[in-house]
Amino acid sequence: MRSYSLTAAAKINLHLEIIGDRPDGFHELAMVLQSVDLCDRIDLRPLSTDQIRVHCNHPEVPVDQRNLAYKAAALMAAEFPDTFAQYGGVEINIHKQIPVGAGLAGGSTNAAAVLVGLDLMWQLGLTQSELQELGARLGSDVPFCVVGGTMLATGRGEELAPLPDLNQIYVVLAKYRSLSVSTAWAYQTFRQQFGHAYVSNVQELETRRQRVHSGPMVAAIAHRNNTEIGQRLYNDLERIVLPEYPQVQRLREQFQQQGVLGTMMSGSGPTVFALTESQTQAEQVRERVQVAIADPDLELWVAPLTNTSIRIASSRPV
Ligand code: ATP
Repeated sequence: MRSYSLTAAAKINLHLEIIGDRPDGFHELAMVLQSVDLCDRIDLRPLSTDQIRVHCNHPEVPVDQRNLAYKAAALMAAEFPDTFAQYGGVEINIHKQIPVGAGLAGGSTNAAAVLVGLDLMWQLGLTQSELQELGARLGSDVPFCVVGGTMLATGRGEELAPLPDLNQIYVVLAKYRSLSVSTAWAYQTFRQQFGHAYVSNVQELETRRQRVHSGPMVAAIAHRNNTEIGQRLYNDLERIVLPEYPQVQRLREQFQQQGVLGTMMSGSGPTVFALTESQTQAEQVRERVQVAIADPDLELWVAPLTNTSIRIASSRPV
């Protein structure tokens, strides 16, 4: 048997549009998702007992059944009971670098890494779409996190269509350490405030889904027009989160003043990101925003966009 060390990338939303309600209680979404090379490390080690054990270096991340990485391992054990009985349990060590509760899919990408890692460790030979189907049972962002890159996502976010890779773009991410936003709260509040405008008939739903396929962000990506990509960033949830958290609004304004390609809140926030065309420019923007805001609670990162999500960093026999 082998142990595996994997890296799991964060995601940002280049486009997030809420179209309506779904019969399953989730929102119908149209999104463009993008992997960012800011990664957690997930170490998987076989255990001789039948336990699933999780450790994490971040104090706010639960290490029991609530952890998405734990849930991923439990799902694999339930789906493949004979293999689980044969190979035994697993110890999962999560080294967090992706900020928690940040709108960067940190938990989802950890779950995706466990699915990919256990498939290897247990020699199951699952296909990418089988892994994505398992991922969809854990959370809407997990199927994307299994593959990564640049994707158009519809439905709950699990119906994915690949878009051309974006290479020469850097991202500056900023988040107040003490601030986190509940994804459930953001979507519920959006429903309360804007639910009256939701699309309800099936045909209109399909029209709106199709519109994003031929929409300006997808066109900008197809033409690899970085200026246009920056200008077309869009997130419906800003309408909820920015009025509630003025410091996030100010952060966004600071980025705007730095001559970046574009700036936007990611997912349900509160992380704000800005896109630049070079690492040098990204580092300059990071420094200037750090100086302008001068708050020790503010954390900033610079990372390139990436076309992969889960990578095997190392593997060795045990
Ligand atoms: P998303 O963008 O998918 O909504 P997020 O980036 O906003 O997610 P996460 O970092 O995934 O948020 O964390 C949300 C909550 O999930 C945290 O408050 C934490 O308690 C819980 N959680 C469970 N498992 C994990 C994990 N492996 N990593 C981080 N948080 C986790």
